Amino acid sequence: MKPLLRPLRTDIQETRQTMLLIKCPYCDEERPELEFRNAGEAHLVRSSSIVEQSDDDFAAFLYFRQNPKGLQFERWRHIHGCGRFFNAVRDSVSDKFLTVYKAGEPRPNVEQFVVQPAAPVEPGEEPQAKPARGAKKAEV
Ligand SMILES: [Zn+2]
Repeated sequence: MKPLLRPLRTDIQETRQTMLLIKCPYCDEERPELEFRNAGEAHLVRSSSIVEQSDDDFAAFLYFRQNPKGLQFERWRHIHGCGRFFNAVRDSVSDKFLTVYKAGEPRPNVEQFVVQPAAPVEPGEEPQAKPARGAKKAEV
Protein backbone atom coordinates (compact mmCIF):
# COMPACT_ATOMS: atom_id res chain seq x y z
CA MET A 1 0.00 0.00 0.00
CA LYS A 2 1.34 3.41 -0.96
CA PRO A 3 1.78 5.83 1.96
CA LEU A 4 -0.46 8.88 1.86
CA LEU A 5 2.20 11.30 3.00
CA ARG A 6 5.80 11.46 1.95
CA PRO A 7 8.42 11.77 4.66
CA LEU A 8 9.17 15.40 5.51
CA ARG A 9 12.89 14.96 4.88
CA THR A 10 12.26 14.20 1.20
CA ASP A 11 10.27 17.43 0.86
CA ILE A 12 13.11 19.46 2.32
CA GLN A 13 15.64 17.84 0.01
CA GLU A 14 13.47 18.57 -3.04
CA THR A 15 13.02 22.16 -1.92
CA ARG A 16 16.76 22.64 -1.57
CA GLN A 17 17.31 21.37 -5.11
CA THR A 18 14.67 23.52 -6.79
CA MET A 19 14.32 26.70 -4.76
CA LEU A 20 16.68 29.60 -4.34
CA LEU A 21 17.99 29.65 -0.80
CA ILE A 22 18.97 32.89 0.90
CA LYS A 23 21.01 33.05 4.07
CA CYS A 24 19.68 35.42 6.70
CA PRO A 25 22.66 36.92 8.57
CA TYR A 26 20.57 37.25 11.75
CA CYS A 27 19.04 33.75 11.79
CA ASP A 28 22.33 32.41 10.40
CA GLU A 29 20.66 29.81 8.23
CA GLU A 30 19.62 29.38 4.63
CA ARG A 31 15.90 29.64 4.05
CA PRO A 32 13.71 29.47 0.91
CA GLU A 33 13.38 32.69 -1.04
CA LEU A 34 9.64 32.77 -0.30
CA GLU A 35 10.50 33.90 3.23
CA PHE A 36 12.20 37.04 1.94
CA ARG A 37 11.25 40.25 0.23
CA ASN A 38 13.50 42.48 -1.82
CA ALA A 39 13.53 46.03 -0.47
CA GLY A 40 15.44 47.72 -3.28
CA GLU A 41 18.89 49.12 -3.61
CA ALA A 42 21.09 49.15 -0.52
CA HIS A 43 23.21 51.96 0.87
CA LEU A 44 20.94 54.82 -0.23
CA VAL A 45 21.63 57.89 1.86
CA ARG A 46 18.86 60.39 2.43
CA SER A 47 19.94 64.01 2.32
CA SER A 48 20.14 65.70 5.71
CA SER A 49 18.50 68.81 4.28
CA ILE A 50 15.66 67.65 2.06
CA VAL A 51 14.00 71.08 2.25
CA GLU A 52 16.97 72.69 0.54
CA GLN A 53 17.15 70.01 -2.12
CA SER A 54 15.85 70.73 -5.61
CA ASP A 55 12.85 68.78 -6.85
CA ASP A 56 15.00 67.10 -9.49
CA ASP A 57 17.57 65.96 -6.92
CA PHE A 58 14.85 64.67 -4.61
CA ALA A 59 13.14 62.86 -7.50
CA ALA A 60 16.48 61.28 -8.43
CA PHE A 61 16.95 60.11 -4.83
CA LEU A 62 13.40 58.81 -4.62
CA TYR A 63 12.98 57.09 -7.98
CA PHE A 64 16.21 56.53 -9.86
CA ARG A 65 18.27 53.43 -9.12
CA GLN A 66 21.48 52.14 -10.63
CA ASN A 67 20.13 48.67 -11.54
CA PRO A 68 23.45 47.43 -12.94
CA LYS A 69 23.86 44.25 -14.89
CA GLY A 70 25.98 42.05 -12.67
CA LEU A 71 26.87 42.68 -9.04
CA GLN A 72 24.47 44.84 -7.11
CA PHE A 73 23.95 45.76 -3.49
CA GLU A 74 20.41 45.07 -2.37
CA ARG A 75 18.39 45.45 0.76
CA TRP A 76 16.34 42.43 1.77
CA ARG A 77 13.94 41.64 4.57
CA HIS A 78 13.39 38.25 6.17
CA ILE A 79 9.71 39.00 6.27
CA HIS A 80 8.50 35.49 7.16
CA GLY A 81 11.31 34.84 9.59
CA CYS A 82 12.97 37.25 11.99
CA GLY A 83 11.53 40.26 10.12
CA ARG A 84 14.84 42.11 10.04
CA PHE A 85 16.43 44.01 7.17
CA PHE A 86 19.84 43.04 5.85
CA ASN A 87 21.97 43.70 2.80
CA ALA A 88 23.15 41.33 0.11
CA VAL A 89 25.45 41.32 -2.87
CA ARG A 90 23.69 39.54 -5.70
CA ASP A 91 24.68 38.88 -9.28
CA SER A 92 21.69 39.99 -11.32
CA VAL A 93 22.80 37.86 -14.27
CA SER A 94 23.04 34.51 -12.47
CA ASP A 95 20.65 35.45 -9.61
CA LYS A 96 23.30 34.13 -7.24
CA PHE A 97 23.75 35.65 -3.78
CA LEU A 98 27.46 36.22 -3.19
CA THR A 99 27.23 37.41 0.39
CA VAL A 100 24.81 38.78 2.95
CA TYR A 101 25.56 41.13 5.80
CA LYS A 102 23.69 42.88 8.57
CA ALA A 103 22.21 46.33 8.08
CA GLY A 104 24.63 49.01 9.19
CA GLU A 105 27.70 46.99 8.34
CA PRO A 106 29.98 48.50 5.69
CA ARG A 107 29.59 47.38 2.13
CA PRO A 108 31.98 44.52 1.35
CA ASN A 109 34.75 44.82 -1.18
CA VAL A 110 33.29 43.55 -4.46
CA GLU A 111 36.69 42.76 -5.96
CA GLN A 112 36.68 39.52 -4.00
CA PHE A 113 33.61 38.41 -5.97
CA VAL A 114 34.70 39.42 -9.45
CA VAL A 115 35.66 36.39 -11.48
CA GLN A 116 38.83 37.02 -13.41
CA PRO A 117 38.43 36.14 -17.08
CA ALA A 118 40.71 33.46 -18.44
CA ALA A 119 43.97 34.68 -19.92
CA PRO A 120 43.61 35.42 -23.62
CA VAL A 121 45.09 32.88 -25.99
CA GLU A 122 47.79 34.24 -28.25
CA PRO A 123 47.30 33.70 -32.00
CA GLY A 124 48.91 30.46 -33.09
CA GLU A 125 48.94 29.16 -29.53
CA GLU A 126 46.77 26.18 -28.74
CA PRO A 127 44.56 26.58 -25.71
CA GLN A 128 45.53 24.10 -23.05
CA ALA A 129 42.93 21.42 -22.97
CA LYS A 130 42.24 19.35 -19.93
CA PRO A 131 43.29 15.75 -20.30
CA ALA A 132 40.40 13.41 -20.78
CA ARG A 133 39.24 11.48 -17.80
CA GLY A 134 41.27 8.34 -17.38
CA ALA A 135 44.00 9.61 -19.73
CA LYS A 136 47.51 9.06 -18.52
CA LYS A 137 49.99 11.90 -18.34
CA ALA A 138 52.67 11.81 -20.99
CA GLU A 139 56.10 10.95 -19.69
CA VAL A 140 58.69 13.61 -20.49
ZN1 LIG B 1 16.14 36.06 9.74
